[in-house]
Amino acid sequence: MDLKEILQKAHPAKVLAVSKLQPADKIRDLYSKGQRRFGENYVQEALEKQKLLADLPDIEWHLIGHLQKNKARMVVGAFHLIHSVDSLELAQTLNRQCETKGLQQKILIQVNLAQEESKDGFSKEKLLECWKSLTALVHLNIFGFMTMPPLTETGAEVRPYFVELRELRDQLKTMTDLQVHPLTELSMGTSHDYPVAVEEGATIVRLGTILFGERPAKG
Ligand SMILES: *Cc1c(COP(=O)(O)O)cnc(C)c1O
Repeated sequence: MDLKEILQKAHPAKVLAVSKLQPADKIRDLYSKGQRRFGENYVQEALEKQKLLADLPDIEWHLIGHLQKNKARMVVGAFHLIHSVDSLELAQTLNRQCETKGLQQKILIQVNLAQEESKDGFSKEKLLECWKSLTALVHLNIFGFMTMPPLTETGAEVRPYFVELRELRDQLKTMTDLQVHPLTELSMGTSHDYPVAVEEGATIVRLGTILFGERPAKG
């Protein structure tokens, strides 16, 4: 499928091109076709690509992969949006690093709705329990939520997870200062299920394979 067709299918959600493990040249190609938002999983790799592509002024970098606390210092201020804030401890660490650097960071909270052991993210219960503490971190602005449903399931079966994330967002909106934490974004849907995610209110879809083809193996 070409970019235009994908953008149409994703409308009104924004398309985040997931470029992990893809060479910088492929990002440059897609940029030349008009794509501006790119999502990376690995901090080191992302920062290297940012350097290689520093001549593209309005490129927008997002971090979507699991983030270790000891890398917090490297990422604050380097990404437009961090989708993968998956624990209170990580959020607190990011907040401290922002304070040191004197900046604000836009984030999403990653939610693990299927409660899979293998996946990072807050369970719904944990998120409700931590919400006061999360929203009290003055250098972070929570723009919304991200989720990654179980991989084995087909489009029809993932719908309930997308619905649940939207409903959770709506619930949290009633107990949040939306001037500080807008909660406008729902980052959900990947190459194989993004049309379903869009139907259920996704505002950002994270598309890798469908845009770039198969990823090279992680070396
Ligand atoms: C790799 C990745 C994607 C993209 O997956 P595709 O199936 O290639 O579209 C989306 N979200 C996250 C968090 C990822 O790690």
